[in-house]
Amino acid sequence: MQVSRIEEMLGPALTAKNLFREYSEAEFKKHEHWLAPNFYQPETGKLIASNHSWLLRTDRHVILIDSCSGNHKPRPEMARYDMLNTRYLDTLKTAGAQPEEIDFVLCTHLHVDHVGWNTQIENGRWVPTFRNAKHIMSRLEHDFWCAKAQDPSTLQTLKYVYNDRVLPVVENGMTIMFDNGYSLDDCLTVVPAPGHTPGHVRIDLRSKEQSTVFCGDILHNPVQVPLWHWNTVFFDNPTQAKQSRHDVLSLCAESGALLMPMHFGQPHAARIKSKYGTFSVNFNYQ
Ligand SMILES: [Zn+2]
Repeated sequence: MQVSRIEEMLGPALTAKNLFREYSEAEFKKHEHWLAPNFYQPETGKLIASNHSWLLRTDRHVILIDSCSGNHKPRPEMARYDMLNTRYLDTLKTAGAQPEEIDFVLCTHLHVDHVGWNTQIENGRWVPTFRNAKHIMSRLEHDFWCAKAQDPSTLQTLKYVYNDRVLPVVENGMTIMFDNGYSLDDCLTVVPAPGHTPGHVRIDLRSKEQSTVFCGDILHNPVQVPLWHWNTVFFDNPTQAKQSRHDVLSLCAESGALLMPMHFGQPHAARIKSKYGTFSVNFNYQ
């Protein structure tokens, strides 16, 4: 099993106050010293956010976990993702995978920054980028965003996200939708982890004696390891999101599994320790 990180963006994004629903200045200050400079930029007060995919090669398949934000897509209410023009596909090719070689795209959830490269523009139409891939997603997650796209009160950007990134792969018969979980290649298990979105999942990898958890957006920033009760202001169901976060941190602490989220700054992955009911993060994981 080989795992590569395919970067789309890395840099300052939101402030902690703007990102976290339960933000407290006093609590955050206790952690600033270890968050700076890789996860927090003191001079601007912004958190550092990465946008990346994880590229996996098993002995049988080439698999992409999430597909970032995508190029040339109008996102009128979300400036960070509006009309991007990044070198994501070149980075993927440099990592040794042509788009047509991807066998499966595993979708942790269907947010704007996780499904973007499912499609690209060709002669004015959105067509699947990974044309030989099956896109594996939760049926609950799909149906939630499909219904949102048809609701007149939904933000235009969210309608676009479903209509130009998800619908084309659905219409082309390129999806596998699951209800309670999914297994792939005897080493990957898709596990429901709701909260950030209704059908959010994490992906547990077991390869020889090593285990890894690709946790999607259960955590956005390492400060949510000690402050695991902090939810984001996005569409979180706070109770479910906290439970999913506590579950994944407990699992990593007990099993020694490497935590590989989608938005942590360098080094982008961590091990978790638990002591007296509190969690801490260790970046010296090699
Ligand atoms: Zn995200």
